Amino acid sequence: MGPQRGDILKKELGIYTFNDLLEHFPNRHIDKTKINLIKDITPQTEFVQIAGKLINAEIAGEKRGRRLVASLKDSSGTIELVWFQGINWIQKMLQPGNEYLVYGRTGFFQGTPQISHPEIETFSREKTEGKNFLEPVYPSTEKLKIKGLGGRQIGKLTYTLFGMLRATDIPENIPDNIIEQLKLLPRHIAYRQLHFPSSPEAYEQALQRLKFEEFFLAQVRMNMAKAARHRYSKGNTFEQVGELFNTFYKQHLPFELTGAQKRVLKEIRHDTAQGKQMNRLLQGDVGSGKTIVALLCMLLAGDNGFQSCMLAPTEILATQHYNSLKELLKDMPVTVELLTGSTKKAARNKILPALAAGSLHILIGTHAVIEDAVQFHNLGLVIVDEQHRFGVEQRAKMWKKAPVPPHILVMTATPIPRTLAMTAYGDLDYSVIDELPPGRKPITTAHRYEYDRTKVLEFIKSEIAKGRQAYIIFPLIEESEKLDFENLMRGYENVKAFFPEPKYWISMVHGQQKPDVKNTNMDRFVKADTQIMVSTTVIEVGVNVPNASVMVIESAEKFGLSQLHQLRGRVGRGAEQSFCILLTGLQPTKVARERIKVMCATNDGFKIAEKDLQLRGPGDIEGIRQSGVLNFKLASIVLDRQLLQVSKEMAERVLDSDPDLILAENLQLKRFLQSQKGKTAWSKIS
Ligand code: ADP
Ligand code: MG
Repeated sequence: MGPQRGDILKKELGIYTFNDLLEHFPNRHIDKTKINLIKDITPQTEFVQIAGKLINAEIAGEKRGRRLVASLKDSSGTIELVWFQGINWIQKMLQPGNEYLVYGRTGFFQGTPQISHPEIETFSREKTEGKNFLEPVYPSTEKLKIKGLGGRQIGKLTYTLFGMLRATDIPENIPDNIIEQLKLLPRHIAYRQLHFPSSPEAYEQALQRLKFEEFFLAQVRMNMAKAARHRYSKGNTFEQVGELFNTFYKQHLPFELTGAQKRVLKEIRHDTAQGKQMNRLLQGDVGSGKTIVALLCMLLAGDNGFQSCMLAPTEILATQHYNSLKELLKDMPVTVELLTGSTKKAARNKILPALAAGSLHILIGTHAVIEDAVQFHNLGLVIVDEQHRFGVEQRAKMWKKAPVPPHILVMTATPIPRTLAMTAYGDLDYSVIDELPPGRKPITTAHRYEYDRTKVLEFIKSEIAKGRQAYIIFPLIEESEKLDFENLMRGYENVKAFFPEPKYWISMVHGQQKPDVKNTNMDRFVKADTQIMVSTTVIEVGVNVPNASVMVIESAEKFGLSQLHQLRGRVGRGAEQSFCILLTGLQPTKVARERIKVMCATNDGFKIAEKDLQLRGPGDIEGIRQSGVLNFKLASIVLDRQLLQVSKEMAERVLDSDPDLILAENLQLKRFLQSQKGKTAWSKIS
């Protein structure tokens, strides 16, 4: 290939090396191994390859209906070929009377079989057999196509490459015993068969092998990273459960902990007592009570002479945590402060020295805490709430705020199915609160069309009459903030007209408000000075107002499933029956209808997450996207879950018996991983 085409291949597809080309996988194959007979074509037939004599080729129709129609005859019948584009050029190329080989998708037009825009080439009688492999078609781009590097031409390059390759150029990287046990194709054969399969079955086998390889290597890498961390990382030892923890637990805990909360606390206590750094993901559905677990952990740190820091993604949430922790700790000898972007200078000037001196025990904050100016005396524990809003680098910065890295507890309410969590965050330890506090009534969810909005508002009125509060959420949908804002304002005016002051008071919170305005408005709702909260999704995470019993989501069809679930989680936090009403336009799309159906059918975050995966694929799940771990080329965590499970077991088996990969049987695996060094993000989180 000349330098020009080489360059454009680099630019367009990132193909620099033979290996890149090898890993540029075809997105489909065309089966030209057989030559079909025209009489065998049925309405169920998809693609065919036909060899026959061209009878005629004439232009028919006018203007938009202009087309080239040809007929091709074999020993069994006649088929029609049609072109709508490039008509003149193709007509010039075709010679009635000659033999051609055509390939394409069949259709029926007025009872006769037809192929539109077939691939066509001249056919010589010696070639009575089709090709002996399925022909690959590769992803390409418009620019490449112009340069003559379309999906099929790339296939020619790949074909040439395979002619040059020896088996040893694609060395095996899975231990032989696993290859044998699972009857996997050897790696070099799998690559060849994936590009140029001898049959659809062979392709399938090759695909399975390479998918397994992707999963397996990822699992091995993550397990090794985790083991290395457990073995080598130094961490603070929280030796004792002391005064603070015990006093709070016995005297100030406002409720009995759930079994799941107790179990998670035990796991964390165990972790932090080992002298190793804890790096734990705590997953718990909305309302499962993660905050109190966080508080108890911070008291544990305090008992061992360490400071704690709790990070929240939004100012509202940080403020709320601060208020509720301050209230819970009011009779305890523990100091708590809040630091956010809008903390006044005077307050800041008090907080920072206290933090550096160690007289401040717990700091709650937003990313403002990450700034270099914020220095701790001895930071021992960092809690990151609703982690998906925090970037990886930001978390890493927290590490550096203490000579010995602090223990990290990442809390998330984004329900991720367990297997997926283990894959995505396989190098973190994992805890789950899989039990809701007792006495919660499941939220009743209903779908209503916009024309029923008045009834919905009436319903809110009746709930307010019982002393409850309601949320009305507007989506952020348009490309422009301005349109969103106008939409929200229109909604607000409508609500206001229906709920006039002074009988009713409404809070409004949205992204364009100054933090202190936001906080004041939120605060009024928390204190029940206002009965209605009109808001965009800024209240999506964490906000806790147990007295709120109605959640109305406007344009619900515009929201993703996990977002709907998060929003719904703002109600159902008290003892009262709560309601979630999903308002949509008249014709939600099919997928939107599916989402709404699921929401109405279940409150279970994990079930919803499963469905979300099905509907969207894992790449879209918030928080996983940036982890990059799940970006497999061939395998899909959703569709190939069984394979994922097998690969996980196999990876564990290998590492259990040979954690450092020193046995001869694991040598090829080790070599491969070493050759890939740098490609692997060994520990992405914290
Ligand atoms: P999330 O896990 O969504 O962050 P929170 O920590 O905000 O949930 O807790 C939700 C609500 O449940 C809070 O009002 C909290 O006080 C309450 N709660 C937490 N644990 C328990 C429990 N064991 N028993 C009763 N109520 C609880
Ligand atoms: Mg929370």
